[in-house]
Amino acid sequence: MASSKDWYEVLEHKDYLFVIRERLDELDPRFYTTYVNIYLVLGDEKALLIDTGCGLFPLKPIVDEIIGTRKLLVVNSHFHFDHRGANGEFPEIYIHESEKNMVSLPLDMSYIKDSSKELINEYRKKDYILKPSLIANSLKEGDEFDLGGIKVKVFHTPGHSIGSISLLTDKGDLFTGDTAHYGAMYLPKKRQFSVILDSISKLLELFDGSNVQEIYPSHEEYPVGKELLEKLYEGIINIENIWDTKTKNRFLGAWVLEDKNFKYIV
Ligand SMILES: [Zn+2]
Repeated sequence: MASSKDWYEVLEHKDYLFVIRERLDELDPRFYTTYVNIYLVLGDEKALLIDTGCGLFPLKPIVDEIIGTRKLLVVNSHFHFDHRGANGEFPEIYIHESEKNMVSLPLDMSYIKDSSKELINEYRKKDYILKPSLIANSLKEGDEFDLGGIKVKVFHTPGHSIGSISLLTDKGDLFTGDTAHYGAMYLPKKRQFSVILDSISKLLELFDGSNVQEIYPSHEEYPVGKELLEKLYEGIINIENIWDTKTKNRFLGAWVLEDKNFKYIV
């Protein structure tokens, strides 16, 4: 793999919405995740980049080519490495206030240095350190980005992490980050299931209250419909019933369970 252009898959999904995809399983299959979806929303004056991916190859040149003369705003759906990897390429980013400190420091990725994939060499070249952005700005529930012709609203949806956010455009595109996606869902401890269940309920209510059309998750398939949230809510409620089937995963330091719709990492 030689360059950014070879690595990132760029898809024009709508005239104002681009998807930039990368393969997490090509970096390390032990995360049980195939795709990272980075989204780029284009307004008349500004563009909003939702997440910066794993930081394996330069992302900014790819983004710059799409946005033209628009001013770029960068947001992290939460602080995990696969959503903030390229933060260091951008002078400032936005993240929920509760995770601001977590993205203000370099991130040590040496715990995956024994990945079976050759791409780990890209991290080795960086001494396994992902650089932070110089400035991290705080977001909170109800904040709004006005991109010119498109507004994007912030919803605090904790559970996957304490400061996980979801974003909703006034055109009805709902970006759920890692709060809801198909594939392997990383959940909090059992005693905190109510936190993520409340967040999923909150997103489901948006389908009644707002004009939500489609869901754009940060991993795996997109766009998906409301049934993702319904299936996930149901699945988490029922984890208790399949708890006996769990297996321990040493690398993730967690239990792994599965039903017909999801894999759950608890
Ligand atoms: Zn993730």
